[in-house]
Amino acid sequence: MAKHIIAAKIKHETNGFNRVPTTLEHFRSHELLVGDAVIPYYQGTRLEMGAFIDSAAEFGWTLQVPVSAFANPSGVVADAAFESMCGLLVDGLRMQPRIDGVLLALHGAMFTESHGDAEGELLARVRGAIGPDVPVAVTLDPHANLTQRMVDHANIITSFRTSPHTDHYETGRRAAWLLHETMEGRLHPRMVLARRPQLQGFDGARTYVQGGPMLKALELARAAEREPGVACVSIQAGFSRCDIAELGPTVVVTTDGVEPRGQQIAESLMDFCWKTRAVYSDPLVSIAQAVAAAIAHTPGTPPLILGDYGDAPGGGSYGDSTRLLSALLDAGVRNGALAAIYDPVTAQQALQAGVGATIHVALGGISDTGLMGEPIRTSARVRSLSDTGDVVFKGPYGTGSRRSFGPSACLDIDGFAVIVSSRNLGIYDLEQFRIYGIDPAQCAVVVVKCMQGHHAAFDPIGSKTLDVDTGGLTSADLTRFTFSRVPRPVWPLDAMPDTV
Ligand SMILES: [Zn+2]
Repeated sequence: MAKHIIAAKIKHETNGFNRVPTTLEHFRSHELLVGDAVIPYYQGTRLEMGAFIDSAAEFGWTLQVPVSAFANPSGVVADAAFESMCGLLVDGLRMQPRIDGVLLALHGAMFTESHGDAEGELLARVRGAIGPDVPVAVTLDPHANLTQRMVDHANIITSFRTSPHTDHYETGRRAAWLLHETMEGRLHPRMVLARRPQLQGFDGARTYVQGGPMLKALELARAAEREPGVACVSIQAGFSRCDIAELGPTVVVTTDGVEPRGQQIAESLMDFCWKTRAVYSDPLVSIAQAVAAAIAHTPGTPPLILGDYGDAPGGGSYGDSTRLLSALLDAGVRNGALAAIYDPVTAQQALQAGVGATIHVALGGISDTGLMGEPIRTSARVRSLSDTGDVVFKGPYGTGSRRSFGPSACLDIDGFAVIVSSRNLGIYDLEQFRIYGIDPAQCAVVVVKCMQGHHAAFDPIGSKTLDVDTGGLTSADLTRFTFSRVPRPVWPLDAMPDTV
């Protein structure tokens, strides 16, 4: 008899320092699919849900997906949004006459008005609906904050092994395979978790820099998986831009039955994480250094890529910082392109004026001028427009992901092409420029609002990539933020002994 599997995706990476709450409308504007709409949407994609669908075909499962929800990282999730998404999942589980297994694609850093550990709450409700015996396999982002409650209510947890994340599909297939082995009675998963008092570690999960601590940790994890009885070793660097009790890097080991070696492996990897906590394999540069590099760029050579690390919508920042763009414009840098400034009013102004029109704008600097800079007041020519800003990722990061800038425009400001959006989006893919008629490879300087994800698609077209600490909501300097719920002492906020 075919196994009956329920799958779902509910993903949010919550930046607890972002002042704008995330509502259900926010999810709806990015992705909120229900029931029969989900499988056709994801069939054939290189994402976790695409992998769940392919695994169902391979293993002869029947598959139902009650909900698939995603919103760009942003502020604390409203209770009503969380209840609505959880309700779709839990109701979908309760109405099944039989369930053999559950597959969930989560991010693992969701924070709601009532639940600091929203995934722990979600998994507890899933467990309540299906009972103690149905196995639950979960995929996470390596920037997940993994909690004991999540471990208690799931059976298998496995994270992406790349950052920039290019293995969504492989991770989905791995979770499905481990679930299959469990349902066939060949694996009896038991998970153990380890952590240290640190907000950051494993080099922020970076795998794009050779020789970095994350690559070394992953190598050790793969070696551990070759030991008998060890099914999966998963490493999370954590997401430190929120203020919850269980924050920071973790290792979770899944063994076949109770296996003391599991905890030893987890602890030894966390010892490594503690020892390498200060290693930052891709040091950030200042705005002044970025501007100097832009001025020094040789015309006709591949572009200089600048990552606006401090204002990364992919880490929950507002996307409206003007600090880097202002400095580049003031320095007279030309033939540049930037994606994207979140500014719905200016986008609408450009749409109303039409292509070719010159408009006077007060661009960006909307949410928090102290943190993100003042609006840029200038005249701009409307280069191109899009009513929807719809984009499908074609590069290596999240291949096949569908995103939307909403009604949007590309403005020309003194020879600098600036994409202006009405939905705040992280920049990961060359298509995010191309839909506006811009080929980033032909520019001298390309600015992308992103922390790490841009390295996959943009490094290959550039001469050099520099990531710039522009001091926004995703600044690398955690001492700029106020933490009240994190147990103290904790690194790097407090003085700590060499061993913990
Ligand atoms: Zn991530």
